[in-house]
Amino acid sequence: MQTNTSANLATCRFCGVGLRHTFVDLGMSPPCEAILESAQLNQMEAFYPLHVFVCDQCFLVQLQEYVTAEDIFTEYAYFSSYSDSWLAHAKTYTKLMIERFELNAKGQVVEVGSNDGYLLQYFVEAGIPVLGIEPAANVAKVATGKGIPTLVKFFGAGLAEELVQGGKQADLLLGNNVLAQVPDLRGFVRGLKILLKPQGIITLEFPHLMRLIEENQFDTIYHEHFSYFSFLTAEKILAEFGLTVFDVEELPTHGGSLRIYARHDQDHSRPVTLRTRELAKREEKAGFTRLETYFSFAEKVKETKRKILDFLIRAKREGKSVAGYGAPGKGNTLLNYCGIRSDFLDYTVDRNPYKHGKFLAGTHIPVFDTGKIRETKPDYVLILPWNLKREISQQLSYVREWGGKLVVPIPDVEIY
Ligand SMILES: [Zn+2]
Repeated sequence: MQTNTSANLATCRFCGVGLRHTFVDLGMSPPCEAILESAQLNQMEAFYPLHVFVCDQCFLVQLQEYVTAEDIFTEYAYFSSYSDSWLAHAKTYTKLMIERFELNAKGQVVEVGSNDGYLLQYFVEAGIPVLGIEPAANVAKVATGKGIPTLVKFFGAGLAEELVQGGKQADLLLGNNVLAQVPDLRGFVRGLKILLKPQGIITLEFPHLMRLIEENQFDTIYHEHFSYFSFLTAEKILAEFGLTVFDVEELPTHGGSLRIYARHDQDHSRPVTLRTRELAKREEKAGFTRLETYFSFAEKVKETKRKILDFLIRAKREGKSVAGYGAPGKGNTLLNYCGIRSDFLDYTVDRNPYKHGKFLAGTHIPVFDTGKIRETKPDYVLILPWNLKREISQQLSYVREWGGKLVVPIPDVEIY
């Protein structure tokens, strides 16, 4: 167990107590969405700590805002629509919400962190009024181009009040993979409370800390993920602002996520479901209200690093070539923490043309379009977005034509 003894003790972004306990320390890493032009390869690069703490009062696992949200999200290289499975997920969600909550042309859907309109487009198709809120202007522009009204702003209590004064409130207020990315967690949740109609529903999806720990997903830790939530901690944070979590679903997305459903405390029309209580009990039983549970993670991470390097060293000694697939944020954490550069990984490929001809930050691994794999026929392809393993394995089935193999690094190195 490591203890934070620095004089300027960081404080918990939810409950404000000093952060004294390390969850895991992944060393210094460049901002995860940073990508370099060739002209930048000879310049200095910014590296920030990936030192994650756990609060001994509320058990919120968190990174300090080493890189500001403004720096990360003002121009953003991640377009949700580049993932087929994520689009399918959004479409299924839309259908589910419309049916379950009987949404129609009189309803108002608001998405916080609406990215390129990957999800709201399906509500638009169903004739339901939408509003997207997205701070990254370059991404929001794509949404606006598709006919999805999008405010280029950071969400918080101030913006929520402005919207309410302008006559806008949400019947369905959603945020997918945005809660983790909010430095001002309290202001954000207060904003949700303000923007929600009296009978409205909030749904939030975020990676489930229980799965992160169980399945070694240390590479989902990066500078834009400020917080990592158990169900119990998320429930506690919403409760502080008068919101009751009445339902929860466990989803396979992003290596295991939760979708929580919340409403105003006063809205008793939606009772708390059995599965909500069951998950809370399961987390208590698994030790998520005891600090020791959080301390076991760091050693598991070190062992995973050794296993990944073991595979790469062996492959290289045998004279094999290894290419990467994908240039996701999690890839940057994994490659930088493990010290994998082009000495192990010749290059990586990505479907996002924005990244082609550029280099991964820190490791300087070149990024090409996906055609490069067919051209160079590597012996191994290391799938960096392992959460999309199934989808990517199908896309890469042609690798077997020359006897190539696919590899995923997490939860354990698996060659297939
Ligand atoms: Zn706390």
